[in-house]
Amino acid sequence: MQINKLKPNDSGVARKGVSIRELRAALNGRVIAPADDSYEAARSVFYGGIDKRPAVIVRAADATEVSYVVSLARESGVELAVRSGGHSMAGHSVSEGGIVLDLSQLRGLQIDAEKRTAWAETGLTAGEYTSAAAAYGLATGFGDTASVGIGGITLGGGVGYLTRKYGLTIDDLLAADVVTADGQLLHTDAENHPDLFWALRGGGGNFGVATRFQYRLHPVDTVMGGMLILPATPEVVAGFIAAAEAASEELSTIANVMNAPPMPFLPAEVHGKLIVMAMMVYAGNVEAGQRAVAPFRALATPLADMLRPMQYPEMYPPEDNSYHPTAVGHTLFMDHVDQATAETIVRYIQESDAPMRVVQLRVLGGAMSRVPVEATAFAHRHARIMANVAAFYTGLEDKAKRQAWVEDFAAALSQGNNRAYVNFLGEEGEGRVRAAYPGETWGRLRAIKAHYDPTNLFRLNQNIPPAG
Ligand SMILES: Cc1cc2nc3c(=O)[nH]c(=O)nc-3n(C[C@H](O)[C@H](O)[C@H](O)COP(=O)(O)OP(=O)(O)OC[C@H]3O[C@@H](n4cnc5c(N)ncnc54)[C@H](O)[C@@H]3O)c2cc1C
Repeated sequence: MQINKLKPNDSGVARKGVSIRELRAALNGRVIAPADDSYEAARSVFYGGIDKRPAVIVRAADATEVSYVVSLARESGVELAVRSGGHSMAGHSVSEGGIVLDLSQLRGLQIDAEKRTAWAETGLTAGEYTSAAAAYGLATGFGDTASVGIGGITLGGGVGYLTRKYGLTIDDLLAADVVTADGQLLHTDAENHPDLFWALRGGGGNFGVATRFQYRLHPVDTVMGGMLILPATPEVVAGFIAAAEAASEELSTIANVMNAPPMPFLPAEVHGKLIVMAMMVYAGNVEAGQRAVAPFRALATPLADMLRPMQYPEMYPPEDNSYHPTAVGHTLFMDHVDQATAETIVRYIQESDAPMRVVQLRVLGGAMSRVPVEATAFAHRHARIMANVAAFYTGLEDKAKRQAWVEDFAAALSQGNNRAYVNFLGEEGEGRVRAAYPGETWGRLRAIKAHYDPTNLFRLNQNIPPAG
């Protein structure tokens, strides 16, 4: 390939390097330039308030084209953004003036129901994979949102409705095909490039572009699950966490303490009041699931009780593609939520006047905590609760105010150590990226980065600088 510096291209945008016409001639995938009608939609990502204008967006048709684009970025020195589902909170899936490598056309999925494994290309979303696997009564755990890409969520760890029963998404990752910075397509698993395979399981997009993953599947068919909404008092919040910790591992919960949105199934007088909006899955026998959710139902008279036996993919309701929230957040891990902590939570949510403010509490443990800390790059194996504080904002001035509230609230919840989950980080600086990789993990990741990406080509991410 003969691409050194960018040069002016035929769309009239003064860039150095390969022209858009040359790119179109070289690739089968779609090449979208600023002059194209589809450019505005193609550069937009899940979060609002991210307004970057890439020189070009390439929807690669296959792994060979991924390699072509990686080499183009390397040889031209242009910034490279890698996008699977586009849900990066830090805006990492779009570049200002660079190349967006959009994987959304990589949609292959082969399910081996007998062996309970699946090969999935990384343009698939969690919802698409989950629906397809459910046709066999099988599932791999992802997060709480269908439109999240399997690319980003897997490389960061993956915390969701099956975490306590089956572990993180990476605990079901058996192999990955990755295009590294030199343009090579490597097959990685426990035997092949085990160092790289280790780093991919939590290290994010630092080590290459994953084109496909092989996952383990579990029998998950009808589950007891859905949404339970309770009034948020300190007693209910503390009681909810205590019940979630006491529950068997089949039960994974996500409790959102928040102001009630005007949801049609909530009485009008509840709108704006403090609620615990809980999402729950009991991945096991339905009768046992009914018993498992009883203590939560008993915490207070539910404002809405939509827990019921359901097909697992029903946990992913349809989404509105035009929804682009503007939000700030802070993620942390906690060891306990006792009565005093619950009082702090309720007070902070009560006192804010943000259009939407929330702390999301996920009780962890179970299968995820039994994987040895050093087995994967995700090392917060023994954290008991993940908390994500977030507030919506309107406009830049409001953003600063909401950010200050988020930081203040997170500091009040902090239990003495700086720990973070990489997939919920925004643009927060190296100290916070390090917080995702405790102990020896950081040094080990930096050494592997130096081996596979010594020039830090993959830097538009929660960046791990190469050692040395
Ligand atoms: C509404 C919402 C709900 C969420 N819920 C959960 C949840 O329940 N559990 C959870 O664990 N996380 C959750 N997340 C966080 C989510 O896992 C991360 O934002 C994740 O990075 C999104 O992946 P993506 O592919 O959609 O995003 P993208 O923006 O496309 O990717 C994010 C970054 O990951 C890297 N990347 C993505 N794909 C590849 C690839 N194939 N190869 C190399 N690098 C790649 C790139 O560095 C990219 O910048 C949620 C996020 C949102 C916005």
